[in-house]
Amino acid sequence: MSIQGPKIYTLRALTDIWTGDAKGKPHRTIATGLLGSIRWWFEVLVRGLGGSACDPTRDGNRCPDHRKKPIEPGHHCVVCELFGCTGWARKFRFEVLDENEQVKAAQIKEGETFNLRFTPLRSIRPEDWALLDLTLRLIAKYGALGGKTKIRKRNDGIGRRPGKGLGQVRVESSPNDLASSTWREISSHLHHSRWRQPNHKGFEWAAANKLEALPKEHRSPKTLLAHLRSNAGGGG
Ligand SMILES: [Zn+2]
Repeated sequence: MSIQGPKIYTLRALTDIWTGDAKGKPHRTIATGLLGSIRWWFEVLVRGLGGSACDPTRDGNRCPDHRKKPIEPGHHCVVCELFGCTGWARKFRFEVLDENEQVKAAQIKEGETFNLRFTPLRSIRPEDWALLDLTLRLIAKYGALGGKTKIRKRNDGIGRRPGKGLGQVRVESSPNDLASSTWREISSHLHHSRWRQPNHKGFEWAAANKLEALPKEHRSPKTLLAHLRSNAGGGG
């Protein structure tokens, strides 16, 4: 497979986005902070669609499995395949750009549009792109970007976002070729034997089908996928 060109999302901030600098000050956009929150929602999505994702913040759960070589089955989970882990580099470069395609340095404020640019460094499967696309839809409908989103994380699920919570975004435009994978293709990708399958004990709550704001009829993996791809509005 050849390496594809960059994929660009244009988002509009509906509220300010907080990433913070090393001193916790809000006046800057820290791309790694935004990427960390995209990864967190990607994990939530994967669990909600019936796959298995490690929790990189948790000892004993995070990838890799050091007994395996990086290219062997079971070395890392499907999330780490794209986002990377020790011994396995992230598959894309990530940049946050302003409307003039310059790196966004200042904080993203309410009403501003900005671009997320994902540039493949190695070949990325269509199913991985599709999961990333669904993640951004999930964030726009029910989640938020950055730290301090004020979305409660509870023992039994993920709370609704508050009305004016930080980090709310709308997708203004997205690459038009990332939503073609079918449910069958995505499901078989998530369950492929090449992935490490971390157990979810203790964080079953961190899954898209545990979103308090998600209507009950959309909580099965297949209907969740269709719902995220639809233009139906999100909660909160
Ligand atoms: Zn992992």
